[in-house]
Amino acid sequence: MGDQLRSPDQLLIKRAPANPSRVLLLGGSGAYALPAGTLGERLSSRRVRTPYGLSSPVHLYERDGLRFFFLSRHGERGYEKTAPYVNYRANVYAAKRLGVERIFAWTGPGAIFPRYRPGDLVLPDDLLDFTRNRPSTFYEGKGIGFIRQSPVFCETARKALRSAWGPLGGGKRLHVGGTYACTEGPRLETPAEIRFLASAGAHLVGMTLCPEAFLARELEICYAPVAYVTNYAEGVKRLPYRRGTLFEGMLPPSLASAVEAAKNAIPAVALAAAGALAGEERDCPCAVSMERYRKRGVIGPDFRDWVAQPGRGKR
Ligand SMILES: [Zn+2]
Repeated sequence: MGDQLRSPDQLLIKRAPANPSRVLLLGGSGAYALPAGTLGERLSSRRVRTPYGLSSPVHLYERDGLRFFFLSRHGERGYEKTAPYVNYRANVYAAKRLGVERIFAWTGPGAIFPRYRPGDLVLPDDLLDFTRNRPSTFYEGKGIGFIRQSPVFCETARKALRSAWGPLGGGKRLHVGGTYACTEGPRLETPAEIRFLASAGAHLVGMTLCPEAFLARELEICYAPVAYVTNYAEGVKRLPYRRGTLFEGMLPPSLASAVEAAKNAIPAVALAAAGALAGEERDCPCAVSMERYRKRGVIGPDFRDWVAQPGRGKR
């Protein structure tokens, strides 16, 4: 195994010539605590060296004939890294370096929209970015920008998720569409912040999709999130303070098992969606988001030459 970890590129090429993985399942909260066997067989693991530091560990798995990469955003054994401290650029760069074309990402936000409840699943279709202290681009100090953000997420991947949900969702409530507001964290939001976000059109509030989704777009990777609602946002319901518990009362104890079941249902659905799209040529705006710069000769075929070295630009 030691040799494999030292030369994982060779390992991938040797073991998967006809079925290279083009998919990354990006796990959010609870990704380190999935039931045994959920992801199938692990073939290799590595951390990728990037201009932004080492990525989180990226594991190559195989399940039902599908090879895919898996990365747990918040840690390997538990919730070790809160959202503001995730190295989003290193992780998305690593995905591109490994040849990933589609990212299915999950996230556990709170519900602002009154019709959502903990344990529901949502396929969001829009973002509000209220993060403050995160590097949000690969193109610091370069003349590259103005990348269109509509559709915000890959429509092809979202459709595949929706189709996969029917037979695999186990009757869990799925809402298609919704705006996810991303806050900086790691603290939770105040009641006034939630009222403000609701008035701005947010249905969900979380801390992880920004800048991850934007970074994927910058490297022409399709990106589609699945949200599982983990709690009510502050002030949405009158909930007593419960000392010493997760979310301190914002997740009613009676709904905790529904939340866990919703999270555990995500990998199978995302992998079914990935399998349905495997081998299909991409025909979506995400795949050509940098085309204008390619046409002008600003960027070449190797994405590693596209990105700026960190700290080079002004913020
Ligand atoms: Zn796409």
